[in-house]
Amino acid sequence: MSAQDRPLSPATRAAQALGRIDPRTGAIVPGIEPATTFARDAEYAARQSYIYARDGGPTVEHAEAVLADLDGAARAFAFASGMAAFVALMETLAAGDRVAAPQVMYHGALAWLKRLAAGRGIGLDLFDAAADGALEAALRPGETRMLWIETPTNPMWDVIDVAAAARAAHGAGAILAVDCTAAPPCTMQALSLGADVAFHSGTKYLGGHSDLTAGVLSLAQEGALADEIRRVRTLMGSVIAPFEAWLLVRGMRTLFLRYERASATALSIARRLEAHPAVERVRYPGLPTHPRHHVAAAQMTGGFGGMLSVELRGGFAAARAVVCATRVFVPATSLGGVESLIEHRRAIEGPDSLVPDNLLRLSVGIEDPEDLIADLEAALSGTA
Ligand code: PLP
Repeated sequence: MSAQDRPLSPATRAAQALGRIDPRTGAIVPGIEPATTFARDAEYAARQSYIYARDGGPTVEHAEAVLADLDGAARAFAFASGMAAFVALMETLAAGDRVAAPQVMYHGALAWLKRLAAGRGIGLDLFDAAADGALEAALRPGETRMLWIETPTNPMWDVIDVAAAARAAHGAGAILAVDCTAAPPCTMQALSLGADVAFHSGTKYLGGHSDLTAGVLSLAQEGALADEIRRVRTLMGSVIAPFEAWLLVRGMRTLFLRYERASATALSIARRLEAHPAVERVRYPGLPTHPRHHVAAAQMTGGFGGMLSVELRGGFAAARAVVCATRVFVPATSLGGVESLIEHRRAIEGPDSLVPDNLLRLSVGIEDPEDLIADLEAALSGTA
């Protein structure tokens, strides 16, 4: 193989956003195309594939090409938020279909599934993602149309074996959709592990700078599901806007670098906190003490990410004290940005939440690791 034929690695393709150069100017960063409508030619046909911005446009298409490439997908669709993407996927279900999903997962998606179950005739079977065999037991062959999983699950960071989930879903006649928000394609390739749909909140690691909302559905195959998602997105008007699509592309250029740094820092924080007297339990898939560390190590090949949770010995009072006492970790919701965040999830999720009251969720960014560790140790002092 000549040097010219050598395939480029995903990190290189992402850094160069597939190497698109503006044909008009030679700019190595393509501009933003804000047009909402596109002129037809003398035969009244579309000049290229573009007609109207609710279907997408050149900037959205560039973002989708980078996303499809990262995920190894036949087709990627970009949406205005993660929830817009999730709702579009769930719109492909019909009354009488059933969905199986973890009982603790991103709470907005769970709230939507409960809403569908209460008012739209869609069955919902919840399972404990940490319990062996529970996922398989939640599937009803011939009735379950979709298995929705998240791995690692937010905010407990339970790990689900994607390849095993795909086998179980397909065996029951269902498709597998995986929320890969905490394990983006620089570390986990959900489609090559057997999933039919890879979902991302692009608001998190893909964007990476806490300055855009975006959602993604990447599909293993073109076909009826892709056609229906395309149709739902156009009719609902939930496509990502050109400026956000452009920001998303910019963010994805540094995805590998940011995730690698966040993973390394999160692992050292997890190790330090595991030995801290104020801490009862650290939940982080990268720790050998995590019950499914071996599964995480097999399917998250580019790092375990920057997300971890700690349960404090001092209960709710200690959690509340620590979340208000950090100087570098910003007390704010969301995750996957360059700046580190700390959050008391139970307070956000409300009284129905199964998340323990003493749990704090950390989103580790790319700051100096020693600043982050010193910040946590100072905030934890006196709460043991
Ligand atoms: N999935 C996970 C795991 C999330 O953390 C979030 C948001 O926090 C979402 C989905 C929803 O994404 P968005 O906020 O972009 O709508």
